[in-house]
Amino acid sequence: MLTPALFIGHGSPMYAIEPNQYTHAWTKLGQSIAQPKAILMISAHWYTRGIWLTAMQHPKTIHDFSGFPEELSAIQYPAQGSPELAERVRNLIQPDFANVTLEEAEWGLDHGSWSILKYLYPKANIPVIQMSIDATLKNEDHWKLGQLLQSLREENVLIISSGNVVHNLRLLSRNSLSPPPWATAYEEFFRYHVMTNDFKPLIHWENSSPYASYAIPTPEHYLPAIYTLGLKHENESASVITEGIEMSSISMLSFGFGLPPTR
Ligand code: ZN
Repeated sequence: MLTPALFIGHGSPMYAIEPNQYTHAWTKLGQSIAQPKAILMISAHWYTRGIWLTAMQHPKTIHDFSGFPEELSAIQYPAQGSPELAERVRNLIQPDFANVTLEEAEWGLDHGSWSILKYLYPKANIPVIQMSIDATLKNEDHWKLGQLLQSLREENVLIISSGNVVHNLRLLSRNSLSPPPWATAYEEFFRYHVMTNDFKPLIHWENSSPYASYAIPTPEHYLPAIYTLGLKHENESASVITEGIEMSSISMLSFGFGLPPTR
């Protein structure tokens, strides 16, 4: 039995204190899959040169945003780290990716991780490490990294990538009644290609859809999804967990491989 691989569209940090239909789905998801031994998070909010892995025993909760209520900055997610898992991940990827650093002081768990883990595993009783996204890599390298991490799914490590496949803060609007056509169209484009196992247009998104430049003005929130595509084992197909456009320009599409059929 393979441990699922998940991509979660995390949306606004406010969801951490204001539960909604998406956070309810995350809670249900956490209850529906067998408890993993450890969690590897790949968060849009750790976008670096080179690949970094948190390798401390006690990762701190990072509040990497500003202009939000005090209540949000008070949230702690006190999960243990796992230096062993960080080492294991490094060994898996280092033959192909040499620039890997184990990080023991500066980083921890950013809101791309804890804002969803808080709902998936509210007890914070499963060790968590984070892997950064190397901004210097080519598109297909992110897919390859996902493939190199596949064997962790046989070791009961849950790999959760966290971002949003449509994420354009410049076009954000809290007042519009219905999402703009380009946002819905790109979410639908992504969903269609995930469900039909046609990943090439998603890995090389720049020229695959006329809406890509609106949906993905910068790649950091999109790239986590590419890791999840790389984690698919043969004969698996994707399940959609949630979908929908929020605030005109954020897709809440979440999907996974290896999920139980009835959730
Ligand atoms: Zn984000």
